Amino acid sequence: MSEQAHSSGSLFLVVAPSGAGKSSLVNALLQQEPSIKLSISYTTRPPRPGEQHGREYFFTSPDDFLARRQSNEFLESAEVFGNYYGTSRIQIADQMAAGTDVLLEIDWQGAQQVKKQFPHAVGIFILPPSIAALEERLKKRGQDEDHVITRRILAAGGEIAHASEFEYVIINQEFTVALAELSAIVKATRCRFAQQSTRNASLFAQLGIHANLS
Ligand code: 5GP
Repeated sequence: MSEQAHSSGSLFLVVAPSGAGKSSLVNALLQQEPSIKLSISYTTRPPRPGEQHGREYFFTSPDDFLARRQSNEFLESAEVFGNYYGTSRIQIADQMAAGTDVLLEIDWQGAQQVKKQFPHAVGIFILPPSIAALEERLKKRGQDEDHVITRRILAAGGEIAHASEFEYVIINQEFTVALAELSAIVKATRCRFAQQSTRNASLFAQLGIHANLS
């Protein structure tokens, strides 16, 4: 039986190269759909100006991160641009068990690890309209040092090469269009049989509908 037979919560994996506009899209989606919980990852990257511990990330040291990884605290973890990132297993387990929709903003390596454990997780890849647009966004953001920006631009091709592993692809050319597409994916996922039948169990029982989940 799949994990979604036990809970009506959906798991969304949103992946993109840096500068594709992923965080802005996700933040706008969460404003529209406040019932979706964004998982707060652990990272060894230093906070950017304006970032807060416990809001964007749990910022931690490499030693602490590695100790947590060793004690199996992470559902997935990866090294990205020389820093470690990881998703808290307990945070996700609690939210999924409560039937909450959870969204992970992670990289392709993490998405692969999560898919192995949650095959019904919905993979969404955000593409920039061009490499030039990606470069421009990274520079305009002005949050990273030049050598970090260069590293991220060079890595973008490697990240983009994994787009084919995802069910959905959104091209973030027009923000409002991309947001509407992201929102449509969330709505469609919520109408999946597994989600509907769990969320509306008594109606399904009244109507004599039986789950036939493989
Ligand atoms: P940033 O440093 O720009 O916040 O994130 C860098 C990259 O790490 C992005 O692709 C982001 O999605 C990814 N990332 C953030 N949190 C996690 C996580 O918990 N696990 C994995 N695998 N990647 C993450």
